[in-house]
Amino acid sequence: MNILNFMQRFPDEASCIAYLKEQREQSGVVCKNCGCMEHRWDANKLSYECKHCHSRQSLRSGTVMEHSKLPFGTG
Ligand SMILES: [Zn+2]
Repeated sequence: MNILNFMQRFPDEASCIAYLKEQREQSGVVCKNCGCMEHRWDANKLSYECKHCHSRQSLRSGTVMEHSKLPFGTG
């Protein structure tokens, strides 16, 4: 899926975020710092916080949205 398909399929921010979150959790969220796979979801910052070392990663990283300039969230 490319970014254009993506935007057509998810025209609003909430559905987009929900989709990205689901995808991330299906493939597993792995901490880049310590390798831990347990994370706390921070809905305000749209990011995952590692339960072990508290390092954060944005929802976008590792998704089709990662390098986009689209104005959603804080990622
Ligand atoms: Zn960690």
